[in-house]
Amino acid sequence: MRSSVCLLAILGAALWAADVKSGPSPEVLRGKLTVRDGQPAQVETAEHKVVILDGDDTTRKVLGDKRLDGFQVEAHGHFTAPDHFRIDDSYTHSFLVRQNGRLKMVTYWCDVCSIRAYTPGPCVCCQRETTLDLRDPDQP
Ligand SMILES: [Zn+2]
Repeated sequence: MRSSVCLLAILGAALWAADVKSGPSPEVLRGKLTVRDGQPAQVETAEHKVVILDGDDTTRKVLGDKRLDGFQVEAHGHFTAPDHFRIDDSYTHSFLVRQNGRLKMVTYWCDVCSIRAYTPGPCVCCQRETTLDLRDPDQP
């Protein structure tokens, strides 16, 4: 009897460990991005499930950029509800868009000043509107 109790304890510990592991570890959400005025950005998965995206300030600004509407995207983070997904901090490159079969980082570029930004909007230097510039994550 003693050995079976011991086995149950080991099994219990293993299940607990598995549970803890599945909790905070990052999940990946893939699907088609929808960006519309006055609405939070959404992703429609291949299973036609619609998930509302959220993230830090940088990510929220990117998620408000209508130039990204319709892109296939990949987001790393975790579900806060069955239809809500919180994207990891933007510095971890947790939000990528698919272009020509490759995953790209979302960046913004000013031709005039050669300044790169990670949020849409006017250039910090000359105030001209920056252009969307999707880049390979392994590019410097
Ligand atoms: Zn500029």
